[in-house]
Amino acid sequence: MHAHPAAAKPCATCGDLTGRGYPSCPDCARAVDRPWESAWAALPDPDPEQVADAPSGDYPWTCVDWALRQLRCAGCGGELAAGAPDCVGCAAADAARWELATATAHERALRTAVAALRAPTWHRRAVASTWRLLLPFVVAGSVPSRAALCEVRTQVVAGRYEELATLDTLPLELPLLPWRRSVV
Ligand SMILES: [Zn+2]
Ligand SMILES: [Zn+2]
Repeated sequence: MHAHPAAAKPCATCGDLTGRGYPSCPDCARAVDRPWESAWAALPDPDPEQVADAPSGDYPWTCVDWALRQLRCAGCGGELAAGAPDCVGCAAADAARWELATATAHERALRTAVAALRAPTWHRRAVASTWRLLLPFVVAGSVPSRAALCEVRTQVVAGRYEELATLDTLPLELPLLPWRRSVV
């Protein structure tokens, strides 16, 4: 489906690569959320509560995610499955939705990135920043490998986020940090 990733393009609204402004920039959000929106639009008469409460497997993961976003958590008042980091209700809703597998590695990367950026306080800052850096390339069709994820996170932890954010290709071609050069 995404055998040939396209180039990541700048967003006309925020000026960053499309996806990096997720979820606050509306144009980035529109580009990133496309698979969720089209799956939801394909449901006849969709009801968020009904979709979120249905037995696992009744609806595709995209629809379950989209339903959760439209619901408020009774425990913390935040977006369900993305509210307060210590909220039991959100943790339970989040765990349940991940029982639904994505069909492809690309979908999994997109879903993981979006989950991290919608609930950034659930993760170490470097994790959310790593996905923010990578999301434009995922939107364009790339699937970052585990090694790529680790490498970008290492660079982020080393304080190179701003530097990586200026690159318009997958930020993996940078020379390794000096203290990591011996690591193969
Ligand atoms: Zn944008
Ligand atoms: Zn909650």
